[in-house]
Amino acid sequence: MKKILYTLLFLFSFSNVSFAANCAIDLEANGMMQFSTSAIAIDSSCRKFTINLKNTGTLDVNLAGHNVVISKKADFNYLTSIVNPSNGLDNGYLPEDKKVIYKTKFLGPNETISLVLDTNKFAKGEEYIFWCSFLGHWGVMNGSLTLS
Ligand code: ZN
Repeated sequence: MKKILYTLLFLFSFSNVSFAANCAIDLEANGMMQFSTSAIAIDSSCRKFTINLKNTGTLDVNLAGHNVVISKKADFNYLTSIVNPSNGLDNGYLPEDKKVIYKTKFLGPNETISLVLDTNKFAKGEEYIFWCSFLGHWGVMNGSLTLS
């Protein structure tokens, strides 16, 4: 009986862990201008979804910072056209714009940031994109983001 109880406890704690993992993702941005994943699927049962971004590259933030910007895929071309370093590293080189759903500052080597998304801001069936807004990066540093 005790054994069964322990087994149940184990399964219960295990399922809790996996449930929590569904509402967060570790995303690495490396020195080769690559994200560690090309697709993020947010489970609609998550009220919040956390992206834990880490820059594993070695170049100074001014030379090759990495961040995450989230927008609709349809707004990607417009938003990349308004990227300008005059907006500053802390703003991801982007001005205030309603088409930016979320963005982080640029990270230097070994820096991390956790971006907490409110899943109510996303709609099922809409295509979103996550991308790095450093100059020259978004052409390769991008991936799809969906709510499922
Ligand atoms: Zn980058």
